[in-house]
Amino acid sequence: MNTVKLYGADWCPDCLRAKAYLKENNIAYEFIDVDLDKEATARVEAINNGKRIIPTILVNEKSYTNPDNTVLASVLGINDIAQVVLFGADWCPDCRRAKSFLTDNAVNFQFIDVDKYEWATDKVESINNGKRIIPTLLINGDPYTNPDNELLRELLQIDVAKEHKVFDTIIIGGGAAGLTTSIYAQRDRFDSLILERTTIGGNAFLTEKIENYPGFTEISGPKLMSRMEEQALTYGATIKTGEEVVSIRKENQLFHIKTKGNEFLGKTVVLSTGSTYRKLGIPNEEELIGSGIHFCATCDGAFYRDRDVIVIGGGNSALEEGIFLAGFCKSVKIVHRSESFKASETYIEKIPTIENMETYMNKSSLEFVENEKGFFKGVRVKDNKTGLESLIEADGAFVFIGLRPNTKSFDGLVNLNNRGFITTEGLGETSVKGIFAAGDCREGAIAQVAAATGEGVLASYGIRSFLKV
Ligand SMILES: Cc1cc2nc3c(=O)[nH]c(=O)nc-3n(C[C@H](O)[C@H](O)[C@H](O)COP(=O)(O)OP(=O)(O)OC[C@H]3O[C@@H](n4cnc5c(N)ncnc54)[C@H](O)[C@@H]3O)c2cc1C
Repeated sequence: MNTVKLYGADWCPDCLRAKAYLKENNIAYEFIDVDLDKEATARVEAINNGKRIIPTILVNEKSYTNPDNTVLASVLGINDIAQVVLFGADWCPDCRRAKSFLTDNAVNFQFIDVDKYEWATDKVESINNGKRIIPTLLINGDPYTNPDNELLRELLQIDVAKEHKVFDTIIIGGGAAGLTTSIYAQRDRFDSLILERTTIGGNAFLTEKIENYPGFTEISGPKLMSRMEEQALTYGATIKTGEEVVSIRKENQLFHIKTKGNEFLGKTVVLSTGSTYRKLGIPNEEELIGSGIHFCATCDGAFYRDRDVIVIGGGNSALEEGIFLAGFCKSVKIVHRSESFKASETYIEKIPTIENMETYMNKSSLEFVENEKGFFKGVRVKDNKTGLESLIEADGAFVFIGLRPNTKSFDGLVNLNNRGFITTEGLGETSVKGIFAAGDCREGAIAQVAAATGEGVLASYGIRSFLKV
């Protein structure tokens, strides 16, 4: 898996030290004796600007000149408990979540970017029965596909530290609404804690380009959200990622917020958990998720450069993401069950001008179809007018058919409407005093970044009036 080459000599103490360390940690490596191989000496000199320094170690072709054992541990993911290798990519939210969890807990790990090394994608596919799922981790050689923080904690024997501090407000969800609430609360001198189950930024972080956030004609989602995060931190917010809130109870005027491995205390709570992509619920959807079926073009689109994709849906998200995919995919086929799109005119007008895009209207998706090797082949659809069935083929499909609120953990705590959205009044007050809601998880939210930030401001005013009583 790792290619480790050690250029050294038997008379060199640091070479012996490095060799012993690799051996102790069961790291396979190739030893190249510079005394026996003239080309090796030239290679060492080329790496080290003409100097003959050994050991020079190459890990997956990246060079390290006489690295000490701490550097080797970090580069190769060696710890007391386990050796950790993380296959991932910078654009993948769960990879960032796993990386920050390991970093926050001072676990050495080796990060292998699947975009940089072709062999890494092959390795990920072989571990996951042909599926390209990241992050995939190897812990002491054993594979784990997208393990959550709780499992990582268990496998790496990380202590669960209990947090006893009482925060003025605990904000659940680190998207636009949660970050804005925190910025305003901090400026009001209220101590805020943001608990985020993955990484900061929410859905806006997954958006390649935002063109309707006031003040910016165009800004990338990650950039905008990183700025909001930076602003919240500047004013003193505490942010904890990889903390999924599972329950909330009130005791002695304090809210006890339970995550999968911790408990936090707050005087008020803001629910800003946003929404998640809806699935079609048709045969083979679950089986092909990650290896043909996707819900986020910014996250997974890169796998389909110069290939054919299907986009299912007819709203703003479907058209926006379809246009984004058309920028680098060979072709994009938009499949929609109705006769017309339910999207902004700007997108609708743009579609016919894009050469590599075709539309399939009035087509209901019946099932996803696999080829003989079990890989994605296409979607079988029924024409709603003629009743005729056909197969639309491509290399992958992106499903954009709406959102469902992330409010399951709050069912029975605060009032929800029949679609699961949190009902509120005035300043985002929910049915429980001291608990507020803001952003896409709230009934009536219009699912835009600017609107979510505005709702965050409202919730901060709610906190202020509640705490100052
Ligand atoms: C594909 C796509 C494109 C978009 N394009 C645009 C655009 O161009 N312009 C625009 O204005 N808007 C756009 N939007 C909408 C915009 O992204 C959202 O309206 C906005 O992100 C909502 O912010 P939020 O804070 O309410 O929720 P989110 O951004 O969804 O953030 C909620 C956060 O809560 C976390 N969370 C959920 N449950 C828990 C839990 N139990 N514990 C801890 N954390 C939890 C989630 O991980 C998430 O990070 C787009 C949305 C999508 C999906």
